[in-house]
Amino acid sequence: MNDAALAVLSSVVETDVTPLERLAHARDLWPRSTLALVEGRLPPSPLAVSFPQHEGDLRAAIDWAVANRVPVVPWGAGSGVCGAAAGRPDALTLDLKRMNRIGQVDAATRTVRVGPGVIGQHLEDNLGRQGWATRHSPSSIWCSTVGGWAATRSAGQFSSRYGKFEDMVAAMRVVAPARAFRTGRWAQGRDLGPWVLGSEGALGVISELLVRVVPLPESRWMRGYRFPSVPAAWEAMRLLMQAELHPCVVRLYDPVDTRIGGRGKGVKGGGSGLLKNLVGTLDARTNLSMPLALPRLLNALAGWGGDECVLVVGWEGTTEVAEVLARHGHGLLLHAGGKDLGAEPGDHWYAHRHSVSYKLAPIFTRGAFADTMEVASTWSNLPALDAAVRVALGEDCFVMAHYSHVYREGCSIYFTFVGRAEEGRYDRVWARALAAAGASGGTVCHHHGVGPHKMHAAARELAGLAAPFAELRDELDPTGILNPGRLFPPVSIPEPPAPTLGIDSRSLIATLSAQQPAADRDAWLSQRGYMLRFPTAGTLAAALGQPHAPWETAVLGASLHLDGTRVVLLAVPRSSAGPDPRAAFPAHCYETITVPVVPLAQLTVVVSRLAPDVRPARSTREGVELRGPAATELAALCARAGEAG
Ligand SMILES: Cc1cc2nc3c(=O)[nH]c(=O)nc-3n(C[C@H](O)[C@H](O)[C@H](O)COP(=O)(O)OP(=O)(O)OC[C@H]3O[C@@H](n4cnc5c(N)ncnc54)[C@H](O)[C@@H]3O)c2cc1C
Repeated sequence: MNDAALAVLSSVVETDVTPLERLAHARDLWPRSTLALVEGRLPPSPLAVSFPQHEGDLRAAIDWAVANRVPVVPWGAGSGVCGAAAGRPDALTLDLKRMNRIGQVDAATRTVRVGPGVIGQHLEDNLGRQGWATRHSPSSIWCSTVGGWAATRSAGQFSSRYGKFEDMVAAMRVVAPARAFRTGRWAQGRDLGPWVLGSEGALGVISELLVRVVPLPESRWMRGYRFPSVPAAWEAMRLLMQAELHPCVVRLYDPVDTRIGGRGKGVKGGGSGLLKNLVGTLDARTNLSMPLALPRLLNALAGWGGDECVLVVGWEGTTEVAEVLARHGHGLLLHAGGKDLGAEPGDHWYAHRHSVSYKLAPIFTRGAFADTMEVASTWSNLPALDAAVRVALGEDCFVMAHYSHVYREGCSIYFTFVGRAEEGRYDRVWARALAAAGASGGTVCHHHGVGPHKMHAAARELAGLAAPFAELRDELDPTGILNPGRLFPPVSIPEPPAPTLGIDSRSLIATLSAQQPAADRDAWLSQRGYMLRFPTAGTLAAALGQPHAPWETAVLGASLHLDGTRVVLLAVPRSSAGPDPRAAFPAHCYETITVPVVPLAQLTVVVSRLAPDVRPARSTREGVELRGPAATELAALCARAGEAG
C-alpha cells in the first residue's frame, strides 16, 4: 500500500499508522497468540488503524477499502479469545470504540440506542444512572464492546434469566460495502438479523444497536448448595429451570473447581484439601511445566478429593417477586438433595464475579498455557458431552469445569484447562477436544465465537449453511473485503441423516415433522402427555416467523433441504458457532423442527395483567400464562398489581 493511498484514508477518517498503534491491534486475547508472544513471536500488525466516530466515517473507510482492495477487520475491544479480530499485515483495522454514543432509555419500549464501540461496563453504569440495566454481564464486561457482543453472540453471567446477547438485540444498523441495512425492529423487508448476529464482522460492520433493557433489580437473593455429585446437581438444575422459576444465576462448580476455588464451606476437604495445598505451593514458587508433564496423574490426584460440589443460585428483581421465586426455588433444591450452605457462597461469587478470568494470564509466564472451552447441549446429552470433552482435554492438560449458562432445555459446560507451554500440545489438545464435542452432539462453542481458531469445527457443525452464507456475503460485500476467509472454510461432510422424530422428555423438546398438519401433531403429542410450548394452529414450518418473548428459543434445531441437500442444524439451547438462521428459511425448506414442549400436567395460571418483573411462560389470546410451582402466588401478585393500577 503506498503512502498516497494511506494519506487519502487519513483525509476521510482519523487513521493511525504508527507501529505502536498497529501493534496494539495486532492480536486479540486468543491464548494461542499469548503463547507465541511469551515465546517472543510478535503477531503481524495491520496496515493501519482507523477510528470512525460516526456512520459517515465508517462508510468513508469502507469505501476506501473497497477502492483499494484492502481487507477490513472490525475491532471492538480485542477481548475475543478465538483470534477473530486479530490483525493481518494487509488489512485496515477499524477500531469502533469512538462510536460510543448511549441514548436515553425509552421506558415504553424498554430499549436504548447504543453505539457499537461502547464498553460494556460504561453501558451498565450509564443505564444504571437512568434506573435501567441490560444485565448482560460477561466476565469481560470491563474490556469488551456492545458491537463485539453482538458479532460473537456473547453470554453473560445472568443469561439464565435474561438470555444471551443475541436475545437482547432488538435491532441493528449495519454498514456493508454494497449497502447499509437495518435488522430486527428496524428491518425493512428481509430481516438479516439472524445472519449478522454471530457473523464476526464478515457481513458488515454493526454501526448502531437497539438494546433491550430491564429496570435495575430492586433486590437480589443469592445462596450456595452442596450436592453429593455433579449428576445430582444437574438434575436439580434441570428441575429448577423446567419449573419456570427463572433464577438469574445458576452456577455449578465441579468437585475440582469447588475445592480449588475454596467454595466448599461444608464440603469435605473443601478449600483446604490436598489439591488446594498443591495449587498453593505452585502459586508461590514453581514453574508449572514440571507438574504438568503428567497431566493424567494430576487429574487423577485432583479427583481423589471426592465428588461433592457446590451450586450457586440467585434470583433478582422486584423484592416481592424475587422473594416468591427464591422461596419456591430453595424448596425445590433442598427437595432435590441440596444442602443449604447459606448466603455466603453466592454473595462471595457476586462480589468477585469479574475477577476470575484475569487470573489466567500469569500462568503464561510460568511455562504453561491456560485456556477455556465452552460447549453446550441438551440435558439428555450433557453427560456424554461432558465426559467426552473432559477425556480429550485431560490427555494433555489439567482440567476442571463449571456449568453456568443454564436453560430449560439444556446447559453449557465451561472447561478451564492448563497445559505445558508448547504450541504443538496446544493445537493437539484443541483439535481433540473440538472433535470430541462435535462427535458427542454438542455445539463446539456456546459464547466465545469461532474466529480462525474454531471455524473448521463450527463449519462442520453448520455444514450446509456455507452456501447461503456465501451468497449473502457476495451480495453485501462483492469485493470480499470484510474479514476475508470467515466464517465458513470449505469442509466436506457426508449428507447427514434426518433427525429421529420423537420426544426428549428430560430436555422437554420434541423433534417433529415440520409439515405435519396441526391436528395430527397435537394429538400425537397429547397421547404422550405433552403439548407444544408455543401452540400453533398451522404446521410448525408455517409458525416460524411468529414472535415470541425475546429470551425464548422457539426453534432449537431443524433439518431442511437447501438446493436439494439436507442440512441438519443441531438441537441445542444456544450456541455461538457463527450465525443462527435456524428459523430464517422459507417454510417449504423445512423437514423436521425441534421445539420446546410442556407436560400437559404442569400447573398453569392465566392472568390478564403482569405485576412488574413477573416473567410469563407465554402469552395467549386469553391473557398471560404463568407456570410452575410459583404460578398461583405470582398470579396473586399480578392481581394485586392490577387492582393498584
Ligand atoms: C477475561 C475474559 C473474559 C471473557 N468472558 C466472557 C464471557 O463471560 N462471555 C462471553 O461471551 N465472552 C467472554 N469473553 C470473550 C470476549 O470478551 C467476547 O467474545 C466479546 O464479545 C468480544 O467483544 P470485543 O468488543 O472485545 O470484540 P473483538 O474481540 O474486538 O471482536 C470480536 C469479533 O467481532 C467482530 N466485531 C467487533 N465489533 C464489531 C462490529 N461493531 N461490527 C461487526 N463486527 C464486529 C470482530 O471483527 C471480531 O470478528 C472473555 C474474554 C476475556 C479476555
